[in-house]
Amino acid sequence: MPTEYNRTLLPLIDQALASPGWLPPIPPLLQEAFAAERLLQCRLFNRRILIALTLLFDAYWLNEIWTSPEIVTISGMLRFGLMTPAVLLFMALDRRDTFGRAYPFCLLLLTITPGAITAVLCVRTTSPMAFLDISATPLIMLGSGMAVRMPPREFLANASITPALFIGSLFYSQAMPTTQIGSLSLIELSIAAAAIGFNLQLEWRDRRMFLLNTADQIIRARLAATNAGLVRKILTDPLTGITNRRGFDETLAEFWRQAAATGRPIGLIMADLDHFKRYNDHYGHQQGDDCLRRVAARMATLIRIEDVLTRYGGEEFAVILPDADLQTVQTVAERMRGGVAALRLRHGGLQPPGIVTLSLGLASLHPSPTDDPDQLIAEADMNLYAAKRAGRNRSGHSPQRDSVTAPENSAIVP
Ligand code: GH3
Ligand code: MG
Ligand code: MG
Repeated sequence: MPTEYNRTLLPLIDQALASPGWLPPIPPLLQEAFAAERLLQCRLFNRRILIALTLLFDAYWLNEIWTSPEIVTISGMLRFGLMTPAVLLFMALDRRDTFGRAYPFCLLLLTITPGAITAVLCVRTTSPMAFLDISATPLIMLGSGMAVRMPPREFLANASITPALFIGSLFYSQAMPTTQIGSLSLIELSIAAAAIGFNLQLEWRDRRMFLLNTADQIIRARLAATNAGLVRKILTDPLTGITNRRGFDETLAEFWRQAAATGRPIGLIMADLDHFKRYNDHYGHQQGDDCLRRVAARMATLIRIEDVLTRYGGEEFAVILPDADLQTVQTVAERMRGGVAALRLRHGGLQPPGIVTLSLGLASLHPSPTDDPDQLIAEADMNLYAAKRAGRNRSGHSPQRDSVTAPENSAIVP
């Protein structure tokens, strides 16, 4: 999540959670995400419950064989010919993701159907025993009203249309004693009210959970970003912006482990600016700092993409080269030496004045798991000092530890 987005969202979420209204308001920026999440929850839940409710609804047909045989045919047609196939079709279409945003509306149509069927049966029955069936109808409404999950708007529609259909049908029922219409209507209305309250509670809980989860995600993302920033800071040299000594130690240990595991060689270059004390003495520390920055920036463009350039300390740099034999290390080192010389940074502290140059000590080893990375450092360090002793502005390397190869064109260029 972008930081600006997070920054504005957290206070809005706090406000929504503290809101005194019935339901915490979802901030506009989150409404789409909330609707999508709620829809998914509804769909997953309803998949499990719809079949059970349909079986329950169909079971009333068995009851009608005894209580009101005159409606068994029409009831069977409506239950098995309309309702059950409608539920199966709905579930099949839902599995194919057919409804999209129209899901709550289609679900509403499906869930008011049992109410409409019961209203038709209520009007058609003549049996006094039907009273029992009809009394049980509010239970079905309760079941479909509370067990089927849908957004509050559709739920309110369902909880209004279904009782209206049922209560309306009572007035036209031939079997219903008029004295019972009031009681049955009240039962139906009470159940509808209870179902609305129950759904509002679910909605309240869903909204709070969503807001708390979103706040949690934002805070986690912020912490992760802060952590990453801190880690970057801890491992970065503030002067040059490259990896610092701590980063060098960690990277070398990691690359060393990998090299020991894969049997591939690992290379190291220690690079030290020549006569840099004199540079500082001549130009001052600030210009010395600037020189270090420019040299580091140049070297960063000359190494391979997988190599890690670090500031080892002072005016000394180190490059860790994974999977690099001595020849590769030499190639990179010469590129660095030539590249820094090509900057032609004037070194007025030299007699006669010259340019800023590097001396480099090279090493490449095939480590075994028992070896220590200090061996690699010691070898590169030794070769660096050999290069210094041999006249500077050159690379020193060994398999034979005492051999120093002076490159061509290594004399200090005035
Ligand atoms: P050599 O060619 O033998 O390496 O000679 P050198 O003068 O480069 O080596 P020496 O170790 O005598 O001096 C290193 C100098 O590097 C001393 C110090 O002032 C300078 N230095 C170390 N860190 C920094 C830094 O962060 N900024 C600046 N400006 N100078 C630094
Ligand atoms: Mg030096
Ligand atoms: Mg030094």
